[in-house]
Amino acid sequence: MQTAEDLTPQEREEQDRMVLDSVDRFLERDVVPYAHDLEAGDVYPQEIVDKMVELGLFGATISTRYGGLGLSATTYAKIVERVSEVWMSVSGIFNSHLIMAAAVERSGTPEQKQHWLPRFATGELRGGVALTEPDAGTDLQGIRTRADRSGNGYALTGAKSWISNAVEGGVLAILAKTDPEAMPRHRGMSLFLVEKSPEFQVEKRLEKLGYKGIDSGEFVMDGLFVPGENLVGGVEGRGLQQILSGLELGRINVAARGVGIARACLMKSVAYSQVRRTFGKPICEHQAIQIKLADMATQLESARLLTEQAAHAYDRGERCDMEAGMAKLAASEAALHNSLEAMRLHGAYGYSKEFDIERYYRDAPLLAIGEGTNELQRLIIARQLIARYPA
Ligand SMILES: Cc1cc2nc3c(=O)[nH]c(=O)nc-3n(C[C@H](O)[C@H](O)[C@H](O)COP(=O)(O)OP(=O)(O)OC[C@H]3O[C@@H](n4cnc5c(N)ncnc54)[C@H](O)[C@@H]3O)c2cc1C
Repeated sequence: MQTAEDLTPQEREEQDRMVLDSVDRFLERDVVPYAHDLEAGDVYPQEIVDKMVELGLFGATISTRYGGLGLSATTYAKIVERVSEVWMSVSGIFNSHLIMAAAVERSGTPEQKQHWLPRFATGELRGGVALTEPDAGTDLQGIRTRADRSGNGYALTGAKSWISNAVEGGVLAILAKTDPEAMPRHRGMSLFLVEKSPEFQVEKRLEKLGYKGIDSGEFVMDGLFVPGENLVGGVEGRGLQQILSGLELGRINVAARGVGIARACLMKSVAYSQVRRTFGKPICEHQAIQIKLADMATQLESARLLTEQAAHAYDRGERCDMEAGMAKLAASEAALHNSLEAMRLHGAYGYSKEFDIERYYRDAPLLAIGEGTNELQRLIIARQLIARYPA
């Protein structure tokens, strides 16, 4: 059978266009009419998730040999942009699932790939990544969750917080310390795939400013048994590296979300400024408003190009932590900027719960925090600059 990976460039382009067209139809039919009410009620969008399963979105970047769509990061970023332009929370439901899948596909044993990836690809088994703890986020090497050897597996003890899909998902990739004394600290960290079971349930949802609908869970593990075959790659001490390789794709996806929000805010502002009138003319004829629109469009395009550049580098198999970091930084700042400017430009209507601008304004700040804060992105960019251009 011909797979997406061995299509000609023209065939691949055609396939990508068809995927993007079906995503556009899905958004128009199944998300646009419901997003406002589901968001307002903070309701998990189960029917939208069922449609995404049908579309194959949970296997978007998983290769076709495991039943995924085998899409490039470039096409995947375009999907995330489109989804986030409508409702960012929907993208979060498959994004962290695909970060988990990328870690398994890149670092899992052949048996693990055969066991997990087909179920991830169909969306039958969905989940996310559990790295953050109540007292460790940016400094991941400071996590306290321990995995102690126990019989033919490990006993996990510790707490995780802010984990997307933890309540609604069926599996999580959990980062833990197999050797808390190891130096450097990352050598003592390992990644485990933990499926929900009567012993492992997550119920606590954290309340948030935005990013509603998708669950952000918190849980405690007290000697939770995990079979040895669920240790990703079958070797201890590689967990941080395994998850960080998935986070490059994660940062590209956060950048794409930022581009989606920045574009939604710009386009709504362009439209509104032509119908809202003050002092006898549409507000788009006031120069102060034109300057806002121009700055919003310029930030959007810079963010879009950086995101495309990072996705291309990822697709070429290059190390792209600097490119993904720049894209994530620029696009999340563009989303923050454009959502605030859209709110100013819409006046009281921007502040109203009846319209979408206030939602973009509440969703955008997450992008400066998730997948590594923007402060951390700056450190990554600077370190790479120094490493790539030694004096
Ligand atoms: C809605 C939501 C969903 C999330 N989903 C997930 C998920 O699915 N899985 C998961 O594991 N985590 C998830 N997170 C957690 C997220 O990844 C962390 O919040 C993030 O990594 C930052 O960690 P922290 O909140 O502990 O902040 P801290 O690490 O405590 O940082 C606090 C501040 O200090 C700054 N800072 C820290 N170190 C430095 C430094 N060296 N130099 C300069 N500044 C520094 C940070 O930039 C930040 O401004 C989610 C968070 C949210 C809000």
